[in-house]
Amino acid sequence: MPDYPWEFADAHCHLDSVAGGFSPTILHITCGYSDKANQRNGKIAEENANAYLCAGIAPQEAMKHPDIKIKLNEWEETIAALPKLVAIGEIGLDYHWAKTEEEKFLQHECFISQLVLAERLGLPVVVHSRDAEAMVLDILGNFNLKCMLHCFSGSAEQAQAAVAGGRAVVSVPPLRNKERRKFIRDLPLEKLLAESDAPYIGKAPSDTLEAIKTIAEIKELDVEAAKRQLLMNTIAFFGVK
Ligand SMILES: [Zn+2]
Repeated sequence: MPDYPWEFADAHCHLDSVAGGFSPTILHITCGYSDKANQRNGKIAEENANAYLCAGIAPQEAMKHPDIKIKLNEWEETIAALPKLVAIGEIGLDYHWAKTEEEKFLQHECFISQLVLAERLGLPVVVHSRDAEAMVLDILGNFNLKCMLHCFSGSAEQAQAAVAGGRAVVSVPPLRNKERRKFIRDLPLEKLLAESDAPYIGKAPSDTLEAIKTIAEIKELDVEAAKRQLLMNTIAFFGVK
């Protein structure tokens, strides 16, 4: 394995909202969710050798903007010009928050527009889905994109089907449940990543260790081996150089 300065990778966190979360031994993929958050995280990535950027407009943000199409023209131009951009995200659908048809429509417009953007830029996507897994996977099926299912909470069968398509990886947060244990067991280790989603699930990027320990335990690996393989998976998925 080449010599990287990192002990392990946090495949998804929001460094702009984590006080003092930055660590020189962790590879951070810091993620935006709105125009402002994209720019804040872009600045962090630019200033820190251990941070790379994922930028996009999340579904919870999309549904606040009835003029989403016009807004996206401007926001996507900004995203495309950000430094150290390695993926478009987090994007997707969240039916937990979208209660009306109008809100769902805005989320769809935004999701699809950014899948097209990722295609144009030749970048992978980081996908958020909540209570909308089947729809999200259906839409992704129409695109030939590498995708990371962030904090995936669908069924083990859905995780299998997504990965079987060849271009998806599934990311594990520091949160245990039965269905998650099942897909960790069933999927090849090469198809898994680990994340903190700090500050929303983990408090800090170092909480990714909890996800790594869970994967190591289920895969019957020692934690150091799991750290290394998951770091390599993260580097390969995002094309980190
Ligand atoms: Zn997140």
